[in-house]
Amino acid sequence: MESEDNMVENLKEQILRLKKEKNAVILAHYYQRPEIQEIADIVGDSYYLSKYAQDCKEDVIVFCGVLFMAESAKILSPEKTILLPVYDAGCPMADMADYDDINDFIKDYPDAAVVAYINSSTEVKTLCDVCVTSSSAEKIIRNLPQKDIVFLPDRNLGGYLAEKIPEKNFILWDGFCITHEKVDPKSILAIKEKMPKSQVLVHPECPKEVRDLADYIGSTSGIIDFATKSDEADFIIVTEEGIMHELKQKNPQKNFYVPGKTMTCINMKKTTLKDVYESLDKMKFQIDLDEDVRLKAFKSLENMHKLSR
Ligand code: SF4
Repeated sequence: MESEDNMVENLKEQILRLKKEKNAVILAHYYQRPEIQEIADIVGDSYYLSKYAQDCKEDVIVFCGVLFMAESAKILSPEKTILLPVYDAGCPMADMADYDDINDFIKDYPDAAVVAYINSSTEVKTLCDVCVTSSSAEKIIRNLPQKDIVFLPDRNLGGYLAEKIPEKNFILWDGFCITHEKVDPKSILAIKEKMPKSQVLVHPECPKEVRDLADYIGSTSGIIDFATKSDEADFIIVTEEGIMHELKQKNPQKNFYVPGKTMTCINMKKTTLKDVYESLDKMKFQIDLDEDVRLKAFKSLENMHKLSR
């Protein structure tokens, strides 16, 4: 019987063969499983991956992430075939902002700019002036002419931005990330007590009481950069645990600690090597968008890339 190691190596070889045959590129988010990050051509955060998907030359993109990421790639590059290896890899936060509810909500704020975190559905993006990612949000919102900002769907990222940009008036939708919402501040304080010099690096999707304990708040790529450039040796990492793979690879001599129970996004972890193989082999699951809807959503993502330059 074939050993597990041999099976994995065999799958990787098959994936590389199919990738070449189909002129495909594999993109993976930092929250994906380590073996998916290893097989990927590009690993990054939502902003970097969406930019790469738009600029790359390949005909086929296998997007190892969640649905809104693959849809964003399709919105920006309709001529490319975008594959999401697991059809039900969604984002519960994005699902908290329903098109009809948002459509009603924004009617009360006709003078406000409607800003959507990229973690939102294609339909909701059609209602927005501009999309943002956690790494681009502050710059984009500062540059908007409107004083009033309707921000959705993440109340935590929105709350963080409201603190950073007090000259704007934020109206927040009440969504949140189920993975980042459950961090217990006490578990951070418990590590801090044992290692007072450790740096607390926090994703802005965390609630305020967790952000208040941070030495640094930033996107996944921001957290990786901060830890890599820092002279400190010990870091408490407060975001989805998939980021550890890149952190440890870039910083083998540093120590990374996770507060409390590991923070795992079950949707990000759905994609396996077998799914990537089957996705390329059978060209599934292809993202297909209604062209009118795509064109309306395109504006908000195009504005994101323009305003973040
Ligand atoms: S980590 Fe949170 S925001 Fe990211 S995909 Fe998972 S549920 Fe959505």
